[in-house]
Amino acid sequence: MKRKFISILLAFILITSLLSACSPAPVSEGIPTPDPVSTPAPTPLPEDTGQSDEKPPVSGSLTIIHMNDTHGRTQAEPYISQLAKDIRADGGNVLVLDAGDRLHGQTPTNLTEGETMVQVMNAVGYSAMVTGNHEYNFGLSRLRELSVMMDFPLLAANVRYNGDYIFERYTIFNMDDLKVGVFGLATPETPTSSDPRNMGGLVFENPVEIAAEIVELMKERNCDIIIALAHLGDDNSTAENNRSDALAAVDGIDVVIDGHSHTLLESGKVIGNTLIAQTGNHAWNIGIVEINVENGVKTKSAHLIEVPGADDETELIADSAVVAVIAEGEARVESITSVIIGTTPVDLNGEREFVRTGETNLANLVTDSMIFATGADISFIGGGSIRTSLSAGDITMGDVLTVLPFSNLIVTLEMTGSDVLEILEHGVSEYPEPAGLFIQIAGVHFVFDPDAEPGQRVVDVTMADGTAFDINRSYIVATVEFIAAGGDGYTMMQRGVDLVFYGGDAEAFVEYLQTNPTITAEPEGRVTKH
Ligand SMILES: [Zn+2]
Repeated sequence: MKRKFISILLAFILITSLLSACSPAPVSEGIPTPDPVSTPAPTPLPEDTGQSDEKPPVSGSLTIIHMNDTHGRTQAEPYISQLAKDIRADGGNVLVLDAGDRLHGQTPTNLTEGETMVQVMNAVGYSAMVTGNHEYNFGLSRLRELSVMMDFPLLAANVRYNGDYIFERYTIFNMDDLKVGVFGLATPETPTSSDPRNMGGLVFENPVEIAAEIVELMKERNCDIIIALAHLGDDNSTAENNRSDALAAVDGIDVVIDGHSHTLLESGKVIGNTLIAQTGNHAWNIGIVEINVENGVKTKSAHLIEVPGADDETELIADSAVVAVIAEGEARVESITSVIIGTTPVDLNGEREFVRTGETNLANLVTDSMIFATGADISFIGGGSIRTSLSAGDITMGDVLTVLPFSNLIVTLEMTGSDVLEILEHGVSEYPEPAGLFIQIAGVHFVFDPDAEPGQRVVDVTMADGTAFDINRSYIVATVEFIAAGGDGYTMMQRGVDLVFYGGDAEAFVEYLQTNPTITAEPEGRVTKH
């Protein structure tokens, strides 16, 4: 009777997963249609399982290899693959987890809308991933196509689309005697930290409440280890009740594998009974969490393994099969990216801590290219739009796509001078904190007082040509579509009228470089502290 029940159950699961694997991915360009089979049906419990407290205490061990916020970088992947293989060869249990913000950010994955990265992850043998805010950059339809290509579940327990959960909420691994539950939590900040136009119909629920619900379910299923795979982060840029630290209040979460805040935790941090681990960003470190269970009693530890640079000596071994998959992805786009489109006599500064706190020469060039492309009076972007620096020398198409990876269209809007003033105020509202919304601008110069209250900091504005700035006049303002839609908190943009779409930001930058503009080594005083 019991066997029969289990075989029916297995057949049910098999059919469900086949249906889900075979269902065509939504490909419409517009609003994605809900996929009726993408939410895993709750697996019924076998009748004889009884209460969880009847399960005898187990012993065993598990190694988690984890990454977060790689933003398209792949240099750690061959080592991760080999580490996992070696652990398995020694008879160990291993899970390879990614805490999000991976499918977008570098040229191969950008130009293939995530596909080359999924191929790399499949080659490594990832066990699960959670959606980061940047996973939504290509739109929800594309993300769901990518999730079908993945040989592992893309998890998000707290994301609904038109009312339905649209990603797998959790998954359970049976590893020797250990039952390991992993569930995904996406940041409720996603709607403001990704293109707002991709967010229609999406709701991101409170992670703590959802965690409590899923943990209860996992306890009912006798999970021995419960892991939250979270893209929440632990810094001040996230509301306190949405941070990973808040998950420690949910009794039963053993480990939180976190991302989003780019926090480097050398040996994790422990809050109550929960170990929280995060590796920093950009694939500089591989995260390792070891969990040992002795008769039901758990011990946990975390550490990081530094990823060697191309010329560094290392004891780590690269899996050549993964190296080959990465090379294939790069070759696929090389014909596009190797074209030289200009040269620069000086280094162009796009470093995160600079573009998010002040004017830089690279940011000036980018905003100049937007005026060049549109003829607008003023152009601006958030420093967070600029993703890397350029060294003096040749600039290739690939370089430009690494600086401006978001494939954003440029738009113009007609706005009043007083709205422009509000833009400037918002652009320095977080200073001195590094902020993606920090304004990079062309067409006006302004002075701000960082000691004044946010919202009242701008003390002097002049047009770049020396004429007076007039709050009663109307101006044509160019920005990227992401900001025009109210992204990064620039909600005043929605008061703009006469929206006009232009080409892509990277495209405009390329055209501008090809006209041989003079590149100034130093910032010009467009944004100055009082
Ligand atoms: Zn993120």
